[in-house]
Amino acid sequence: TRRKPKYHRILLKLSGEALGGPQGQGIDPEAVHEMAVQIREVRDLGVQVVVVLGGGNIFRGVAGSQKGIERATADYMGMLATVINALALQDALEQLGVPTRVQSAITMHQIAEPFIRRRAVRHLEKGRVVIFGGGTGNPYFSTDTAAALRANEIGAEVILKATKVDGIYDRDPKLYPDARRFDRITYQEALQRQLKVMDSTAFTLCMDNKMPIIVFDLFKPHNLKKVVLGEKVGTLVTD
Ligand code: UDP
Repeated sequence: TRRKPKYHRILLKLSGEALGGPQGQGIDPEAVHEMAVQIREVRDLGVQVVVVLGGGNIFRGVAGSQKGIERATADYMGMLATVINALALQDALEQLGVPTRVQSAITMHQIAEPFIRRRAVRHLEKGRVVIFGGGTGNPYFSTDTAAALRANEIGAEVILKATKVDGIYDRDPKLYPDARRFDRITYQEALQRQLKVMDSTAFTLCMDNKMPIIVFDLFKPHNLKKVVLGEKVGTLVTD
């Protein structure tokens, strides 16, 4: 029997590293394909899917500014990197037969629609996966902040933040084998324990608007589907 998804509209946040394969650098077509397969799985359940992509596999503003590029310029370079990733994911999804639209926060008419909230929602209603590139369109922000902002704007029920670990731990599980994983944690406790779920701007935006976050490992096959079906995967951050 087909199980019913717990969520109907989700925002999936993928770091650039997820598209970079084992090295987390550049674009690894196999890694992009894997992500697309998982997205198709949940879309086939009838779930409306929005993806916000990072750009860290290509360029990060802070790293650029440390090498002498003006911070704002470096950040715009980072935003452009996210659009490259958006096109890569779009291509992989469409090769799997999934209809998509890319919307960019920085207008680039030749390759992406501009971000138009109501239009994005319409695409979702028609079953298209909407990929948001260009972050928020503003320097000094992150793609996690873009995810928090867009999730609220388009009425997503939850942000699914894909990482390489299977949730939030009380300490770094790579350094401490006895680190404890949370099934669930409140925004307040995450703040008190200084657990870096997202950068503070993004986290605050979620907390203030009660937008739940699930941190989970997307590198395990079918994990996205499990999350969407409400299985105990990853860590849920709520009120
Ligand atoms: N960026 C920005 N404003 C935004 C989103 C992103 O300036 O609203 C820039 C910033 O320089 C960042 C880069 O784009 O370093 C790539 O995004 P991010 O580091 O969030 O990607 P991720 O770590 O998720 O791969």
